Amino acid sequence: MLHKKITVGEKKTIALVAHDHRKDDLLYWVYKHRTQLENHNLVGTGNTASLISERTGLEVEALISGPLGGDQQLGARICEGKIDILIFFWDPLEALPHDPDVKALLRICTLYNIALASSSTTATYLINSPLFTSSYQVEVIDNDHILSVGHGCKKDGMPK
Ligand code: PGA
Repeated sequence: MLHKKITVGEKKTIALVAHDHRKDDLLYWVYKHRTQLENHNLVGTGNTASLISERTGLEVEALISGPLGGDQQLGARICEGKIDILIFFWDPLEALPHDPDVKALLRICTLYNIALASSSTTATYLINSPLFTSSYQVEVIDNDHILSVGHGCKKDGMPK
C-alpha cells in the first residue's frame, strides 16, 4: 500500500503563514476566530507568528522567518506528521525571492494530504467544519512502505 491511515486528533496543530501584503488579512481573520483557535496548537513562520501573538494574545510558536527558511522548516514538520492544517495567505500579485520555497511548501501539503487554506473564505469553511473539533482519519503517503519497496513508481511513472 502506498498510503496509510492516520488519526488526526481533536486538538489540531495549525500552521499560520502570511506574506507581507496579506498579513493584515490573516491578522483580521485570526482575531475574528481567536476563540476557536485558542483550543489548538498554533505555529507560524517568524514574523507572522510574532505579529499574531502581539495583536491577538494567542500563543503561537515562532519558526524561522519564511524567506530565511521558515517555509522549509514548516514543510519538514509536515513530512514528519506534525502539522494538521496550514493556513497560508500567499501573495498572488508579487513574485518573492523565496518563491521556490513557497512552491515546495504547497507541494508538500498536497503530498501529505494536509488541509490547506489560502483565502479567508476557505479558512472559514475549515474552521466551521465539524472535523475542526473532532477526531478523524486521513490517508497519507506511507514513507515506510516506499522505503521498503523502492521509490514507489515503475519506469512508466505508474504506481507499483
Ligand atoms: P514571515 O514569513 O512570517 O517570517 O514574514 C512569511 C513568508 O514569507 O513565508
